[in-house]
Amino acid sequence: MSDTPKLDFIREIIATDLSSGKHETTITRFPPEPNGYLHLGHAKSICLNFGIAGEHPGAKCHLRFDDTNPEKEETEYVNSIKEDVKWLGFDWGDDLYFASDYFEYFHDCAVHLIKNGLAYVDEESPEEIKLHRGNVQTPGTPSKFRDRSVEENLEKFAEMRDGKFKEGEAVLRAKIGLTSSNMNMRDPVMYRIMHREHHNTGSAWCIYPMYDFAHPLEDAKEHITHSLCTLEFENHRPLYDWFIKNCPVPSTPRQIEFARLSLTYTIMSKRKLLQLVQEGHVSGWDDPRLPTISGIRRRGYPAEAIRHFCKHIGITKYNGTTDVALLEHDIRNQLNSTAPRRMAVLDPLKVVIENFSDEPTATAVIPNHPQDESFGEREVSFSSEIFIERDDFQEIPEKKYFRLAPDKYVRLRGGPIIQCVGFEKNDAGEITLIRTKLLPNTTGKDSPEGVVCKAAIHWVDAATAADAEVRLYDRLFTVEDPDAAEGGFLSVLNPDSVKTVSAKVEASLATEAAGFACQFERMGYFIADTKEHIPGQAAVFNRTTPLRDSWGKGK
Ligand code: ATP
Ligand code: MG
Repeated sequence: MSDTPKLDFIREIIATDLSSGKHETTITRFPPEPNGYLHLGHAKSICLNFGIAGEHPGAKCHLRFDDTNPEKEETEYVNSIKEDVKWLGFDWGDDLYFASDYFEYFHDCAVHLIKNGLAYVDEESPEEIKLHRGNVQTPGTPSKFRDRSVEENLEKFAEMRDGKFKEGEAVLRAKIGLTSSNMNMRDPVMYRIMHREHHNTGSAWCIYPMYDFAHPLEDAKEHITHSLCTLEFENHRPLYDWFIKNCPVPSTPRQIEFARLSLTYTIMSKRKLLQLVQEGHVSGWDDPRLPTISGIRRRGYPAEAIRHFCKHIGITKYNGTTDVALLEHDIRNQLNSTAPRRMAVLDPLKVVIENFSDEPTATAVIPNHPQDESFGEREVSFSSEIFIERDDFQEIPEKKYFRLAPDKYVRLRGGPIIQCVGFEKNDAGEITLIRTKLLPNTTGKDSPEGVVCKAAIHWVDAATAADAEVRLYDRLFTVEDPDAAEGGFLSVLNPDSVKTVSAKVEASLATEAAGFACQFERMGYFIADTKEHIPGQAAVFNRTTPLRDSWGKGK
């Protein structure tokens, strides 16, 4: 019996490679395409790649921007990706790379393949190429350009590079064969023509490499030992290995695939997230309802809880969907030990304490954490008018309702017991005010004889309370698998995914810095919004998560 946790299959492979002496250490990489913001799926890959780098002496993880496609890459994305990786707690040190810096190398490798009779320029149209590749049942048929001489191929490839062809008029293809049952191996395209500016190389190139050709070369160039990717690349691996075997590479990386992260009630594709942002269904990439790293950060999910979650779900070879409740559980678990407690009333109802002057002190002293004394305690002011939650009063109490009701008692958290002696309604029949009397000197003591008081409720002092805008976030989709919705994922957006309320909060909350995270007692975990909360001017809080999962019970 050992306490060492069982290694996942990737860490097993690495441990074997190190102990056999195949590698002295490991170099992994996280290779995002800078065409969107990172999401929780990327966090899984980041925690795996950077995690491994932290587990062996001399090991490293590169941050590599896979920016070979000139179409949609932007500096905004590069910056956000760096920020997100750092926020998750990882550091690439000096190992920051851009795949576009290797364009010359990719080109040299292509020329090498042509010279060895392993690549050819095909001038068939994209439609013809597609048709001639056949399908899984039918072998492909050779293009009429397949048997060009090495000299002609070199000449034509140079013309491609020199801009002599229009887009779609020619491609460079690997000469592997046309009969493999793996379609990726049927003379795959290596280069296509795109007369586009690239953010790094400008107009230097009008041919751009395909992912399957570029990626193994990027890995080899950086001496990556283990190239970890998601399962959909499993049947691209033979091609990865083919390029490594046939190109002049400085090292031999090994591709290993693992299951991607999918979460219930969540979409995780960059393309769909972009659509939500661009069509205004959310307020931006950092909308707290999105699974983007910037969104969950603003929502108040702690980085440590994300790392814990990624460890918790583990690394396997089988695709599946993880219950988002598991993530939420890890968030609550973490915040339960790190978040100080405060009081905030989200749906305020005014309570008058008629005999307030009978109480000897006008402050309540409340511990900032119920289990952890190191959080200390705070003094909360208290006066003849306070606010409580509207649903902490019932005019006609239902069975087992132990909070405030006519003639009933309730304890104010950290303060005395009060008894309801009356209430007022407006013309619409809504309750507008509760009248109470307090039992002097009951703070911190058992209920006096003859007084039934079974519950404590939170409250804030009306005289000193601050106004706050509080956003109650909920899941963005109403169904477990939004991608499978008949009407598309937009048809299952949750109309109640955010509800903004005007709350009354403890005065000190208004002066806390943006990013301050706490528990509003009985209400959930909240964070002062990093964009709109301005200390002393505008109190804006986001709900990170309620204290309990209300979805499990058939909502
Ligand atoms: P998306 O599918 O959301 O568009 P992507 O795979 O196109 O994402 P990249 O920028 O190419 O995004 O991904 C960078 C790295 O993150 C890749 O190694 C990829 O395998 C990994 N990755 C992306 N999505 C997930 C996921 N859901 N789970 C685990 N790893 C992921
Ligand atoms: Mg991708």
